[in-house]
Amino acid sequence: MAKINENYLKLPSNYLFSEIAKRVKNFQEKNPDAEIIKLGIGDVTQPLPKVCIDAMTKAVQEMGNAETFRGYGPEQGYNFLREKISEWNYKKNGIDISADEIFISDGSKCDCGNIQEIFSLDNKIAIFDPVYPVYLDSNIMAGRTEIIFLPCTEENNFSPEPPNEKVDLIYLCSPNNPTGTVLNKKILKNWIDYAKKNNSVIFFDAAYSAYITEKNIPHSIYEIDGAKDVAIEFRSFSKTAGFTGTRCGYVVIPENLFGTTSSGEKILLKNLWLRRQTTKFNGTAYIIQRGAAAIYSDEGQVQIKNLINYYLENARIICEGLKEIGLKFFGGKNAPYIWLKTPENFSSWEYFDELLKNFNIVGTPGAGFGACGENYLRLTSFGNREETLKAVERLKK
Ligand code: PLP
Repeated sequence: MAKINENYLKLPSNYLFSEIAKRVKNFQEKNPDAEIIKLGIGDVTQPLPKVCIDAMTKAVQEMGNAETFRGYGPEQGYNFLREKISEWNYKKNGIDISADEIFISDGSKCDCGNIQEIFSLDNKIAIFDPVYPVYLDSNIMAGRTEIIFLPCTEENNFSPEPPNEKVDLIYLCSPNNPTGTVLNKKILKNWIDYAKKNNSVIFFDAAYSAYITEKNIPHSIYEIDGAKDVAIEFRSFSKTAGFTGTRCGYVVIPENLFGTTSSGEKILLKNLWLRRQTTKFNGTAYIIQRGAAAIYSDEGQVQIKNLINYYLENARIICEGLKEIGLKFFGGKNAPYIWLKTPENFSSWEYFDELLKNFNIVGTPGAGFGACGENYLRLTSFGNREETLKAVERLKK
């Protein structure tokens, strides 16, 4: 019999969202009339911006014509999209990131999960707790064992200090999933200084950067001096433009970012990633890349802003409701996530069950994101307005 990769057995047996789905299904079967409102999974509900639909429709037509048909595209993405990202997300903001430092993918989940493959298994990694589960699980699957958890608590504003010991790889996420909190310039500078001192590489997940409303909160880690020497950035069109089902994201690996061999030879990380992608990935669909590129126009920017403002308004409604009820929470200002402290010391799963049973509302138990997520529940603002308002009314009653 073929032997399995036993690292998979070290993972929690159930993916968090499968367990939630199971409990919701059980409840619905027993209570068929209950009108369940899902504020749990981080999936969007509003349609794609018109500019994206128009661009993809046009691209579909091109695919039906021999002169304009496209087969395999470049593994690292079409230049028309890489150029637009470089210009609109970086150069317009004074950040010098060029098209050939950008690698298009079919979403950030794969990128965040796959990036660790180009690093040695004996690297020590640092991960926030609670955390987006992909960072941790992908490292466990690979067989990495030296993992340091950095507790994110109310006391440290969900922003732990760099560890006292040396780590090689650091996962940062701002705006944060699940806590909805952000890392400011000073904090990021501190991490960059740490990474420089310890020759570490930072993975900066900016999947929610479009949700930042407060001035002075960095949208990109490259806004901070020195970041290009130590950081890889991940971005996604999922929450920026409603692409959760359409699939497009990208990784930025700066030109001069190096790793090292065991004998001390410096190797460009960008080249390793390209090598990995050309072997294991065959590019994001042309049609989808055309759709993504369409947000980089004046009209496209207006349309995605409207979309993001819709979800941010939902977040505001939830936060106002929770305030009125007197529940403690964090986030919701620069992020579509609200990190609710469970009342009366309920555990995360107990409170999840309470909300489901008494109010027919689904949240995500904080404990599913790590031990420090215990006694928290994550609510998302990705529902539609009507359901969000209804959920808040139910809670108030
Ligand atoms: N990073 C974070 C922090 C996320 O929360 C998500 C999705 O929920 C992703 C990355 C992945 O997004 P996608 O694969 O849809 O691009």
